[in-house]
Amino acid sequence: MSGPLYGAVEAGGTKFITMVGSGPDGIAEQARFDTATPEVVIPQVVDFFRQAQAKHGRLHGVGIGSFGPVDLDLKSSTYGYITATPKPGWSNTDLVGPVREALDVPVAFDTDVNAAAVGEHRWGAAKGLDTFVYMTIGTGIGGGGMVGGQMLHGLVHPEMGHMRLPRNPEVDPFTGACPFHGDCLEGLASGPAIEKRWGTSAKLLDADHDAWRLEADYLSLAVVNLVTTLSPQRVILGGGVMHQSFLLPMIRERVLKLLNDYVQSPAILNDIDSYVVTPGLGDKAGILGSLALALD
Ligand code: ADP
Ligand code: ZN
Repeated sequence: MSGPLYGAVEAGGTKFITMVGSGPDGIAEQARFDTATPEVVIPQVVDFFRQAQAKHGRLHGVGIGSFGPVDLDLKSSTYGYITATPKPGWSNTDLVGPVREALDVPVAFDTDVNAAAVGEHRWGAAKGLDTFVYMTIGTGIGGGGMVGGQMLHGLVHPEMGHMRLPRNPEVDPFTGACPFHGDCLEGLASGPAIEKRWGTSAKLLDADHDAWRLEADYLSLAVVNLVTTLSPQRVILGGGVMHQSFLLPMIRERVLKLLNDYVQSPAILNDIDSYVVTPGLGDKAGILGSLALALD
């Protein structure tokens, strides 16, 4: 194992993944726990790191990338907490405190998507860039990234998954699955939204199903909104829904059409295949991203 060892937690709504390692080529330990209740999962995470320390020696730090909403304000008394999540049992849960106290190591904390973006920046598809967007299309839709070399943190943190898009009710009568907004991006284009609209899991819909034309329409609108707002040097699209590999070319084609040659950059006009991409770290973007948070 080369280099000092760090710990990582990818806290997801379905599963927690933990890792100890030094980078993509130096993974010492990895585990996965169901997202039961905090009373169950947090001790499992702490035990995992204790056992890893007993075997490999002291960790130099731990990074946690979490589903949200989370409190990232270092001055807040609830920094490091998952705040008002609709996920039962998880509202007002301190993630950072118990890990820091049990292991006595520095703990870095960010949203799951910002963590994945940090990982993509260090080792993946955003290497060498200072302005890019990372979006995941899975159970939910979330986005993070960097602008001018700074991670996107603001008043709270971006909620790109809840941007509003035009929906033509004649083409798409589905009113959306977001409990807060109905037909926001997540309400229209997440995995569960696809399943609710068509009555079949997104995993099982054929490549020529209308579902995918609509999905590509919505995701390309979202990409164009981000391109025109943040001027990213690259847009990375990850998450389970993007496993449908025919979707990416459909999105690229629509992004070009929607932009209509307006953004005059060769990165877009001549090389869209390198501009809208899937994560360089694949499905490990989240957990390696949390490791990258710790290294940073
Ligand atoms: P999570 O968002 O929970 O971290 P994923 O990114 O895997 O996990 O997203 C899960 C969602 O993605 C589910 O709604 C599922 O239907 C959808 N999904 C997973 N794999 C595929 C696939 N191969 N094709 C289409 N949709 C998929
Ligand atoms: Zn919403």
